[in-house]
Amino acid sequence: MTIVLDYPHDTSSHQPLMLSARDVWRLGEEARSQVNGGCELCVNFTQLTARTRNLRINGLEFKTCWAFEPDLRDDRNRPVIGAIGYVPKGPRAAIMCLSSTALVGREALTMSTAAHELGHAVFDVPGWIIAAEKSPDEDLEEAHCYRSVIRRHRAAKPPSIAEWRANEFMGAFLAPPKLLRWQMTKIMRELKLPKKFGGDGELVLDAARVGFAEVETVVDELAKAFGLNIGFIEYRLVRYGIAPRAAP
Ligand SMILES: [Zn+2]
Repeated sequence: MTIVLDYPHDTSSHQPLMLSARDVWRLGEEARSQVNGGCELCVNFTQLTARTRNLRINGLEFKTCWAFEPDLRDDRNRPVIGAIGYVPKGPRAAIMCLSSTALVGREALTMSTAAHELGHAVFDVPGWIIAAEKSPDEDLEEAHCYRSVIRRHRAAKPPSIAEWRANEFMGAFLAPPKLLRWQMTKIMRELKLPKKFGGDGELVLDAARVGFAEVETVVDELAKAFGLNIGFIEYRLVRYGIAPRAAP
């Protein structure tokens, strides 16, 4: 199978044009539905890596090769939890590496790292391939130009546009806005919590209306249902405007 995604891009360089958070979420959601059919709340890691081996992004086809590596390091020899690379002059394939040392026994972190690297494959690899194929041979020594890594502890500085896109893609891939709201509505109904609607007429999770302990219960249930950690769910709820503030 091939994951097929299209978005506004420069047709010559294959680099993305400016995308809004909503554009990126839509693409994360679309990729997810092609990977798992969009029904299961939890994305399975084996499914993710097996079904994203062939990508067609804005008409450009390439492969991904997923691998766990012990003690994965960046170009400056610092430990990283994930990396994506493309070797110019080789086949059109992105090498997706995950650190087995850092990720062993940490399912939620493994999933978010893999989905983040998939975001780079979707948004950055097409541009890397085109840039490499258009470059004269002597300019291709610096293979590390076509590489991106995730460090265990992030720098305090704001993320680059490429990191921002990969993170928003990852968030929507693992917990899409519609599915998250749908499951939240179901849980709130089961718990018989009072309803509150936002400006867009959609149900919101507001501690001022339902109580902080109840918000915690809902977030906890969502985290279990999606197989993600509580902080991840809280952040997505606030990011999507579903919860004004998910925690006290
Ligand atoms: Zn990254």
